[in-house]
Amino acid sequence: MTSSGVFYRKWRPQTFNDLVGQEPISRAIRQAIITGNVSHAYLFCGPRGTGKTSTARIFTKAVNCVNTTEGNPCNNCTICISVNEGNAIDLLELDTASNRGIDEIKSIRDKANYAALESRYKVYVLDEAHMLTREASNALLKTLEEPPAHVIFILATTEPHRLTNTIISRCQRFDFRRISTKIMVERLRKIAAAENVSVDEAVFDAITRQSTGSLRDAETLLEQAITSFGSPLTIQDVNMLLGLAADERVRDLIGHILAGNVTNSFKLLNQLSTEGTDLVQLQRQMVDELRDMLLIKFGGSELVVQPSEIVEKQSHMIMNIEQETILVTLRAIGQINSRMDMPSTLPLELAILSSIQNSSTNNSSDNLEVDSVSNPLKRSTVETPVRLNPNPEPKNESLAIEIANTSNTNYKNTDSGTSQGNPRERDSTLKEEWPRIIKALSRIKARRFNMGALLRDCWEVDLDGETLRLGFSHKSHMERFMDEIDNPESKRGLISTICDIAGTNLPVDVSCYLLNREGDAKKPKDNALVQAAINLGGNIVEEREELPQ
Ligand SMILES: [Zn+2]
Repeated sequence: MTSSGVFYRKWRPQTFNDLVGQEPISRAIRQAIITGNVSHAYLFCGPRGTGKTSTARIFTKAVNCVNTTEGNPCNNCTICISVNEGNAIDLLELDTASNRGIDEIKSIRDKANYAALESRYKVYVLDEAHMLTREASNALLKTLEEPPAHVIFILATTEPHRLTNTIISRCQRFDFRRISTKIMVERLRKIAAAENVSVDEAVFDAITRQSTGSLRDAETLLEQAITSFGSPLTIQDVNMLLGLAADERVRDLIGHILAGNVTNSFKLLNQLSTEGTDLVQLQRQMVDELRDMLLIKFGGSELVVQPSEIVEKQSHMIMNIEQETILVTLRAIGQINSRMDMPSTLPLELAILSSIQNSSTNNSSDNLEVDSVSNPLKRSTVETPVRLNPNPEPKNESLAIEIANTSNTNYKNTDSGTSQGNPRERDSTLKEEWPRIIKALSRIKARRFNMGALLRDCWEVDLDGETLRLGFSHKSHMERFMDEIDNPESKRGLISTICDIAGTNLPVDVSCYLLNREGDAKKPKDNALVQAAINLGGNIVEEREELPQ
């Protein structure tokens, strides 16, 4: 049975020559071993999966091996074999993330005083060394200041800035680089050939892009794919495994957005979502694609990591597109906060709308095509076609929007005389500005949660007298949001952001409720997305109830 990580262990580099992408480091360490100029403390810094622990193991073998060649271990003597098999007595690896206290360090200190049992040097590898407590760090520092002659410490960390300067100054430091795309593809190709698996060339690119410089992640993904699909391994298999959309379809989607076609963008986006595309992945793919196009537009096509026929296709697509349009779109898609998972297509839809809106204002061209948005959110049975007003009024001059045939007449006439306009106008302004409000709140650091992100789950926004009423579709989001605005400072921040953007002095209070799915289906589709379409100058001209099939 193949378990995850087998490739990684099997293909783990055994000598400094096998270590890919870190040549300056392996050269320096080999040189130290050849000249016998070995330090007693090393600091290996760098992103995960870049070879820090592999280097520590090769190093342990090399300093103890009885038969080295140019600083490389022989992998044949008992010491080399015991390290390779994971049972070397004189190599002690400590995961500091789970053993971060002073007792562990004290015990290491005590044991370090005894001579190595089998070999010349005892090597202690402290992984994620930045996780040590302050007391543990101080205890470690004492040992580093006067290390026993037969002991070598290797501190590995992804976050060197969290180590104290006194510790750093005691160590010889090596900074591991992210593995380049080219080197990673070569490595994966070599593994696939050795495993006798036929793999589409596009698979290597997809896995490499996914692994963002971590060779370990790339090897693990390749192994998962081979275990799941066997040989031949196609790009369709890997896209399915990773929840990726096919590159051509991402390119089609970008094409619709750059052409300003809301309808086709939404149709394709929702189709991809229905087919099981991971929306966080899709966002990343869209950003990659737009970045390629921007590079091409600025004459940097040699920086695009794509086959030449793809670069040609991309160049052709953007021939008549302003670079500003690409930039605006890249910004809008890239700014989506995807640290939380993306349960609906709404964040992407809002970003698409806002980029189309912004690029059409920037270019002041007439490339906006909105025929109808046919229930892209599949949220209720009510279909709300939105038509673009052929002569949209300039923003801020007309606060009222014509909304024909809506049943949304739930406005209380409680104008306190403290704010401009009548309540209905204020409510409209609030809704019109809702996407901007969400965007602004996404940038504000709240106490615990990002309010902008939580409000993306908000489907109904109403001003009821002085109270802003927010209807959430997920209980957990609503509870987090309520928890956040329990804090007076967060609540003040929320209200003042809304007032600033909507240009009113209301609301003064906020209340939340959970949308009742059954009742919700009977209501007009009153959500942030339609508001954003209205923002573009659209009018709701008709609401139709779809007959259940
Ligand atoms: Zn050896």
